Amino acid sequence: MIARLIIALLALTAGLTVQAQTTPALGTKKPEAAAETPTTEKKPTVAGAATVEDEAPVITPFRPFTLPVTKNTRTFQLSKLNKPAATETTKELQRLFSAYAQQSIIDGSPTGFSKATGYLATINYSILQDLGDKRFLVKAAWPAAGPNDGLAAGVDTMAILLLDHPIKVGEIGHCTGMHVGTVSLLFTASFPPLTGKRLTLRREAFVECNTLEESPAGLQKFVDKIMHGAEVSVTTNEMITCKKCGGLGFTSEKVKGSLTEKHINCSACDGAKSVALPTETKIIP
Ligand SMILES: [Zn+2]
Repeated sequence: MIARLIIALLALTAGLTVQAQTTPALGTKKPEAAAETPTTEKKPTVAGAATVEDEAPVITPFRPFTLPVTKNTRTFQLSKLNKPAATETTKELQRLFSAYAQQSIIDGSPTGFSKATGYLATINYSILQDLGDKRFLVKAAWPAAGPNDGLAAGVDTMAILLLDHPIKVGEIGHCTGMHVGTVSLLFTASFPPLTGKRLTLRREAFVECNTLEESPAGLQKFVDKIMHGAEVSVTTNEMITCKKCGGLGFTSEKVKGSLTEKHINCSACDGAKSVALPTETKIIP
């Protein structure tokens, strides 16, 4: 169902394709400064066709979402649960399930849910403009999401939202949104001070969704699923002993002309002795 919603969000009107002209630098997390300022744009022309007169909004993918880059992998073996000296504890299983629930969306797949393909965030929004097909231009706020804030926070930021319920311009609401990347929106604004202007905006896009419920029954289903051979992995931020300073929080430097050393605050962990590392944990029977 979500896949269909994403297609709906990105649906192109035949013949109106306006591809993004620039390729953004890979790894750029924050929207570019240029994206913050709406720019008026001439009506697009399609090669070999006349000037496009249609005023319908056109949404095209601009930059795909980026999933967490995991630099560390480990396994959690269910058969070792609560065995002496095992790291597989009930508490750790609960924590992994909690992360899994927050990274899973309820959909029409055979198990009833699947792993989210983008960052999930709680979005507070107010509707600026109805773009049709349940797509809205909104003023929104959301917290940074994902390991190492892969999705930067939004504060009073314009975004594109695909909602699964009707709502009117000016109304406010909140939902869980799955980030589906940055899209390019070509539309005619209907809100001041841009009313009547044909504009292109590049904005973060989200699809409203529901996450898996965290409950004892949900945890039991999760365990059963793995025992029956389902491949399950969870991405979490784990604190790992800093490699650069070996967990000391500082590095040492010889003082010239002296036998003493001076301690310098570790540049990798800033004295914290450990660093957060996106980690993929495979949960196995
Ligand atoms: Zn360090």
